[in-house]
Amino acid sequence: MSEKPLTSHIRADGVPLTLREYELKGGYQSVRKALAMTPQAVQAEVKSSNLRGRGGAGFNTGLKWSFVPLDAPKPKYLIANADEMEPGTFKDRLLLERAPHQLIEGMIVSAWALQADTAFVFLRWAYHTAAKAITTAIAEAYEAGYLGQNILGTGFNLEMHLHTGAGRYMCGEETALLNSLEGKRATPRAKPPFPQVSGLFGKPTIVNNVETLCCIPHIITHGAEWFQKLSLTGDAGTKIYGVSGKVRRPGLWELPMGTTLRELIEEHAGGMHDGLSFRGALPGGASTDFLVRDHLDVRMDYPSVAAAGSRLGTGTVIVLDDKTSVVGFVKNLIHFFAQESCGFCTPCREGLPWIEKILHALQSGDGRKDDIPLLELHTRLLGPGNTFCALAPGAMEPLQSALKYFREDFEVYIREHASREPITV
Ligand code: NAD
Repeated sequence: MSEKPLTSHIRADGVPLTLREYELKGGYQSVRKALAMTPQAVQAEVKSSNLRGRGGAGFNTGLKWSFVPLDAPKPKYLIANADEMEPGTFKDRLLLERAPHQLIEGMIVSAWALQADTAFVFLRWAYHTAAKAITTAIAEAYEAGYLGQNILGTGFNLEMHLHTGAGRYMCGEETALLNSLEGKRATPRAKPPFPQVSGLFGKPTIVNNVETLCCIPHIITHGAEWFQKLSLTGDAGTKIYGVSGKVRRPGLWELPMGTTLRELIEEHAGGMHDGLSFRGALPGGASTDFLVRDHLDVRMDYPSVAAAGSRLGTGTVIVLDDKTSVVGFVKNLIHFFAQESCGFCTPCREGLPWIEKILHALQSGDGRKDDIPLLELHTRLLGPGNTFCALAPGAMEPLQSALKYFREDFEVYIREHASREPITV
């Protein structure tokens, strides 16, 4: 059986381990080990593990850390991005609700490596159970001397706070998150400067995803080479994959990185419900391109999914079946993104509601001949390089790939129901 470092200590009933129970399973050993190492040595271990950010972008974690000036005066900040709002994505919720000490342990080790003195868990507003679990775990960690002043007698100080967001998707974008934490409106900032150099209150800051931080204790305890070997491919570690949609057993599974899409859907998720067949899937949350039948044997790691024309994203698959309207499916996603746009840049603020109107018109029998070219034009206008952050380009991924793979589904609405006069753009 493959190793599942992030989830094997999770209790079947979902109740998080107390600090004592967690320690008995080896918890917090990596803090003792890391504090006996130099911050540079901890960073080097993480860098050579080839851990890539699990929030969706897959940026190399050790490389990101290396941009933080180690000798910069304090304060320096570490933030766990727990604002998990990508549609179809619920992997961090599992770790937050059921293994809160693992996250705190990962944050202490990471803060030491970065010489950060203040840490925040920025939590999605709706994750009430997680908020309780994290609050209890932080209090236990302070009580046991893993947080606060002079941690385990080493002279290292780290204060940790839980901050609950107000419920906007935008807050998951790292610079919008920083604005939100500063009490400002959650619009993204221009990058560069990257937060590693000028982040929270202008100070060096690392924002890492929850799953990423949960890998850190295991890398330090068992070593970079061990972590790399957990994977089936060049991308290191395990991955918490998920499947939602009309499959028999939707859920989450920690599996070796590089597990195929077919294995995820057919074995772990139990295949499609009776009477339904697989048409396609968004491999990593809503802001990724569709993969289709021909891609079922694609390995779910960053380069393999990219080579298939999509992105691994969060690794939580949303399955499309043959009885669900593709146009309706995409319209629902666009509705979400239009609602969650921060409104700062014009293509995103104006373009997303326009796309939603077109898709609504198609579904309502008001489709017209030039709707498809108009949708395609939008996928370019809202694409990479034309907007301030990744929200709108991400929203274009399911649309552009639906137009590529399921064009007939759009055309049929127009053929059968075209009634409006063309409008010029
Ligand atoms: P990004 O590629 O711009 O950045 C990813 C990380 O790498 C950031 O921390 C950034 O600071 C760092 N980075 C990138 N280039 C850098 C450089 N040149 N120098 C220094 N650091 C650099 O991606 P992003 O806009 O932060 O995130 C987009 C991703 O977020 C998408 O893949 C999407 O799938 C995902 N997402 C996830 C959720 C969720 O709930 N988990 C929600 C929304 C979006």
